[in-house]
Amino acid sequence: MSKQIALVAALLSLSTVAIATEQSLRPGGIAIIDLGSSDHPAPEVRLDGKPLLVMRRNDKWFAVVGIPLDTAPGGLDITIGGITSAVEVSQHAYREQRITVENESFVTQSQEQLDRIWSERKIIDAALTNFREVPLDAISLAAPVEGVQSSSFGYRRFFNDQPRSPHKGMDIAAAKGQSISAPRDGVVTATGNYFFNGNTVLIDHGQGFVTLYCHLSEIDVEQGQQVSSGETIGAVGATGRVTGPHLHFGTYLNGTAVDPAILLGN
Ligand code: ZN
Repeated sequence: MSKQIALVAALLSLSTVAIATEQSLRPGGIAIIDLGSSDHPAPEVRLDGKPLLVMRRNDKWFAVVGIPLDTAPGGLDITIGGITSAVEVSQHAYREQRITVENESFVTQSQEQLDRIWSERKIIDAALTNFREVPLDAISLAAPVEGVQSSSFGYRRFFNDQPRSPHKGMDIAAAKGQSISAPRDGVVTATGNYFFNGNTVLIDHGQGFVTLYCHLSEIDVEQGQQVSSGETIGAVGATGRVTGPHLHFGTYLNGTAVDPAILLGN
């Protein structure tokens, strides 16, 4: 069964209205679906069997859907209260980016390094896919650090001419040691020193909404810690697979990376 889902406007904040309705219906974007009056309980909303974020805003329920970067052209099947409907997703050609790194182990790894990467991947994936039931009325984020925000989300990357996974975040140029703050309230679900990401923090903001901070010079929070918006979580660094100090800032919904620029209101 399929019907066109009504997509809505005045939600995230005034500055993001245009993006929320038009340009963000692309792979790596966000779809916002009107679920009707909050006088009734919210329907269960799922994508590929996974629960989706539902926020209560202006006496209505809205589903907030992260559109996977690898979504094929056409519709994304969302199940609302047991009925599956299609959201039209537009095509978007992300740019190619070629990066040269001197440390060859950041391009091709030994078995020992692959074992380490695999065990770290499991920790990161668990933090990215955790679904914590908590009421939400907004999804906007404050900038985690002052600096120039790149628009490199989604770039198809080649390291030393070898194709690698696309860039699933925003790089923010900032000096080593510059303080990074939580962009909204949440719970720290993982911290660690990982092979590619260097010193890393993951924050769970509820209902599968997760933010990721990589390449830090220092980490100032612990797993399980509650953080408030604006609270310091660490400092900018150049740990892991990097060419210089910056913050890699990742934002995730329903386990899929979405463009942080949308949530920052850019
Ligand atoms: Zn990055």
